[in-house]
Amino acid sequence: MTAPQESSPAAPEEARRADFIRERVRADREAGKHGGAVLTRFPPEPNGYLHIGHAKSICLNFGLAREVGGRCNLRFDDTNPSTEDEEYVHSIQADVRWLGFEWDALYYASDYFAQLYAWAEELVTKGQAYVCDLGGEELREGRGAGKNSPYRERGAAENLELLRRMRAGEFADGARTLRAKIDMAAPNMNLRDPVMYRILRAPHHRTGNTWCLYPTYDWAHGESDALEGITHSICTLEFENHRPLYEWFLRAIGVAQQPQQIEFARLNLTYTVLSKRKLLRLVKEGRVSGWDDPRMPTLSGLRRRGYTPEALRLFCERIGVAKFNSTVDMVQLENALRDDLNKRAPRVMVVLNPLRVVIENYPAGEVEWLEAVNNPEDPAAGTRKVPFGRELFIEREDFRSEAPKNYWRLKPGQEVRLRYGYYVTCTGFELDAATGEPVLVRVRYDPATRGGDSPDKRKVKGTLHWVSAAHALEADVRLCEHLFRTAHPEDVPAGVDFLDNLNPDSLRVLTGCKLEPSLATATAEQRYQFERHGYFCLDARDSRPEHLLFQRAVALRDTWAKLEHKEGAPK
Ligand code: ATP
Ligand code: MG
Repeated sequence: MTAPQESSPAAPEEARRADFIRERVRADREAGKHGGAVLTRFPPEPNGYLHIGHAKSICLNFGLAREVGGRCNLRFDDTNPSTEDEEYVHSIQADVRWLGFEWDALYYASDYFAQLYAWAEELVTKGQAYVCDLGGEELREGRGAGKNSPYRERGAAENLELLRRMRAGEFADGARTLRAKIDMAAPNMNLRDPVMYRILRAPHHRTGNTWCLYPTYDWAHGESDALEGITHSICTLEFENHRPLYEWFLRAIGVAQQPQQIEFARLNLTYTVLSKRKLLRLVKEGRVSGWDDPRMPTLSGLRRRGYTPEALRLFCERIGVAKFNSTVDMVQLENALRDDLNKRAPRVMVVLNPLRVVIENYPAGEVEWLEAVNNPEDPAAGTRKVPFGRELFIEREDFRSEAPKNYWRLKPGQEVRLRYGYYVTCTGFELDAATGEPVLVRVRYDPATRGGDSPDKRKVKGTLHWVSAAHALEADVRLCEHLFRTAHPEDVPAGVDFLDNLNPDSLRVLTGCKLEPSLATATAEQRYQFERHGYFCLDARDSRPEHLLFQRAVALRDTWAKLEHKEGAPK
């Protein structure tokens, strides 16, 4: 998928894409299936932080329920204690709420361990499950070859006794499994006597040491759905092949009203990876500063980066839901944020690479408070006063001691507009003796152009932002680039680690940036547009009142290069 050139504004609720899942759910409802009820669930495994891929699933499950007046549960799929942790349970709940959704009920697959076990005994009694003594490797090989396990024909009584002894902790981890007795010749591998229980001695974050048997995903998931009365069990495409097994288990336990599993394509994004396992490696190996590193595609990372829940929901709405796998361009995510913040982020002036300017004919010590527009897209946002004085900072990039004809910013003899300020003309400059870099620019201002307009309609093509030197706040500013330097970092030849594709320049910190004083009241929740630079917010974790740190969420669509060649830069 490629990004639209100009993204459209948010679609209103009723104009939502009529995707195949929504159509199906609406049709089921109208046909009176499940008594006309719609109950979905979002079932994360608490083995990592949620990422933008999960946001797609959350928006779909919670959004759908909301649209049709149904309900949506949050259910932790906590069937593998060796990788799960309470920390993730907390972060997942916080992230779902931050994204703007609230569950109707909160459950854990572990709530159902006793019921699942009781059903397993039933299946054993009915001859639909058996205890298998094959080790992991033999079991896998047997399934691959479609060969019956030598333990497949054990009698029900022996199976029941062995299962109870497994439950009682008489056997070592991995020594035995309980398998569903389905069809070892099935073309669908999932139906070749899949494992229902494995022996694992690992303390569970909720059930402690009560169990040394843990159910597999396949055995727990549909049954949990059934216990909650889920009507539509929406999952990603890799589970399409599991659907016959999902349905087999539900038939085996005799559920009156079967939940319907529906699959959709998972989200893939360029320049990043969306797998908790891979993201965990980045965290564990210290490649990033944590799950909420602003370069991470996790919801906590995106939030810290400056993304808003509105932008993420808008993104999910725009990419829609389909039945085929594809990779979405990261630009689409960035555009959703730009479109959201363009409407509501207050504008401020910040100089990232300061160069000092002295206005020779402006009285020393005088200060004027000039009126600046907070958001040209939103008149209701009003105006604010910014201080102006004899000494200012402008961007280094906005001055050249020698420049071509079509350079409209400051150069000797050229007049430019200081936004909301005055017209100034460059009269001279000073260079650093050692480096030859400009260290000071001299200008003269025209007092008749106060506010940035000239009464004689004199044209200037360059408009610069600036900050008063006497009033400037100082801050560090963190600029992030893509975490990976290739669009598809997971596409690596055998034997090559995807981490080799990490972008070594993904994080850069500018120091000594100059901020207009209104930013003294900035909070981590408030997003700003730094004029001509992009959207920024205070870093929630690392900023200190005595040492401010801002984080760039996304650059503007307009680049410096574009500005330079554009006739008549925006006023
Ligand atoms: P990961 O590979 O990142 O660990 P997962 O599928 O194992 O993902 P779960 O915690 O099991 O993670 O996922 C919870 C729900 O989110 C599931 O219904 C899953 O299908 C969905 N989901 C996970 N990743 C994506 C994705 N990239 N796009 C859409 N939905 C996703
Ligand atoms: Mg998983």
